[in-house]
Amino acid sequence: MRLVDSHVHLDDRKFDADREAVIERALAAGVERMMAIGTGGGPPDLEIAIRQAERYPFIAATIGVHPHDASKATPETFARLRELAAHPKVLAIGEIGLDYHYDFSPRDVQRSVFRTQLEIAAGSGKPVVIHTRESWPDTMALVGQALPPANPFRAGILHCFTGDPQQAREALALGFHLAFGGVLTFPNAQAVREAARITPDDRLLLETDCPYLAPLPHRGQRNEPAFVVEVARRLAEVRGCTLDEIAAHTTRNFEQLCLRRGPGNG
Ligand SMILES: [Zn+2]
Ligand SMILES: [Zn+2]
Repeated sequence: MRLVDSHVHLDDRKFDADREAVIERALAAGVERMMAIGTGGGPPDLEIAIRQAERYPFIAATIGVHPHDASKATPETFARLRELAAHPKVLAIGEIGLDYHYDFSPRDVQRSVFRTQLEIAAGSGKPVVIHTRESWPDTMALVGQALPPANPFRAGILHCFTGDPQQAREALALGFHLAFGGVLTFPNAQAVREAARITPDDRLLLETDCPYLAPLPHRGQRNEPAFVVEVARRLAEVRGCTLDEIAAHTTRNFEQLCLRRGPGNG
């Protein structure tokens, strides 16, 4: 079984004591690729995931300014993101978006920084990784304006998708893949499971968002990439298919979206 964890924060200090062991467990569990999210502590450091990706062949990177850090972005930040977008191990721009739950940066600043990064992504031809929390209408409006509509299935990833079926349909219509994580396993997440059930095979992705949001039976613990198997297992139950089928679909989808492998090219 080959799995991809499309969203990891292995730079988090919660992994400082045993990062190598965490990575070994992931590989042993069948996680053959991880995408390290490069938002870290925010600008001026934009390369935290690139540094990891350069150390390990199975780790890919993203770059971006998280909405929490939007107020730290400067014109130099965007210039540097444009340069780094061409790095061969940078597969996506993210996580970018809006977070109206924490409001760590003012909303107008969040929107402006999000819009600029959507333009950088469109210019780079690489997909986006979207973070949206309590900001669904504004997020959809901004991506709808910024992303080229002639790019079906290549828009990017709605990470940690926790919406309902209606929101899933809306995001799918804009060309997004939906990445499901630990929340899918939580008892009260019936609407998320319904959204996962109606998502087409070719738009599904898996993620952990580790160290956050560990799936059952690890809920409340530090999350790690090996636990993506639990998400895949639950997704298979929800969709009435096998774990192997989920692994095959989600790994192929990641490769087509982020590695630009066309259908039939493996
Ligand atoms: Zn996020
Ligand atoms: Zn994240």
